[in-house]
Amino acid sequence: AIAFENIEKNFGSLKVLQGITGSINRGEVVAVIGSSGCGKSTLLRCFNRLETINGGRLVVNGMDLSHPKLSQTQLRRLRSQVGMVFQQFNLFPHLSVLENLTLAPRQVLGKSRSESEEQARFYLEKVGLAQKAEVYPEQLSGGQKQRVAIARSLCMNPQIILFDEPTSALDPELVGEVLLVMQQLAQEGMTMVVVTHEMQFARDVAHRVIFMDKGLVAEEGSAREVITEPKSDRLRVFLSRMS
Ligand code: ATP
Ligand code: MG
Repeated sequence: AIAFENIEKNFGSLKVLQGITGSINRGEVVAVIGSSGCGKSTLLRCFNRLETINGGRLVVNGMDLSHPKLSQTQLRRLRSQVGMVFQQFNLFPHLSVLENLTLAPRQVLGKSRSESEEQARFYLEKVGLAQKAEVYPEQLSGGQKQRVAIARSLCMNPQIILFDEPTSALDPELVGEVLLVMQQLAQEGMTMVVVTHEMQFARDVAHRVIFMDKGLVAEEGSAREVITEPKSDRLRVFLSRMS
């Protein structure tokens, strides 16, 4: 679970997060929507300490991330519990799919080669890519790369997965296969925070939607409330541009 209260993040004089409050509960799927530059990625990056907050309180899985200093042990624990899937996949091009999936479990969790490979094959099967274990990322389509990235994240046995526009770099015909894998994860009870422009996914899969505007939470509620019954003009305008 994640709890955040009044969190602030500045880049120099630019105030990107201006006092954001909310929570992500265990087993919940929360979609974060909002215009470009409103701070969605920054918020997500605070959750796994790719950014350090400048103010407010942030607790992730019981770990207090409000302090500017965090020990290496805490950071390692956080990163293994909180997975992240990026728009650009970030697979290692010089490693096979299997090696991409086993690297962190071996290096960070200290798993044996055989144990990590067994697990990797299990998750590859789950994302429908059992037959791609030995190939290199360049031999995969964008949708396949992103499914490998999701499997890689699962190999760390995370309690939460953060997705930052996981389908935005994909050709339209490849979006569905990735959303399907994410939907399956959601149904299995994974805690997920998903920054997305896929309003249908947000409406159908997310339990809750957070609409951000200029570094603040402008509207928040059930997916149905936020997407089909927007209260503010800003959200109405945003949604009309999305469809
Ligand atoms: P998009 O939908 O385009 O991905 P976003 O909502 O994810 O946008 P952020 O990436 O969180 O937006 O960026 C919010 C603001 O912070 C932007 O004005 C951006 O230029 C700025 N910003 C983000 N990262 C940095 C950084 N490392 N240094 C300086 N400014 C940054
Ligand atoms: Mg972003």
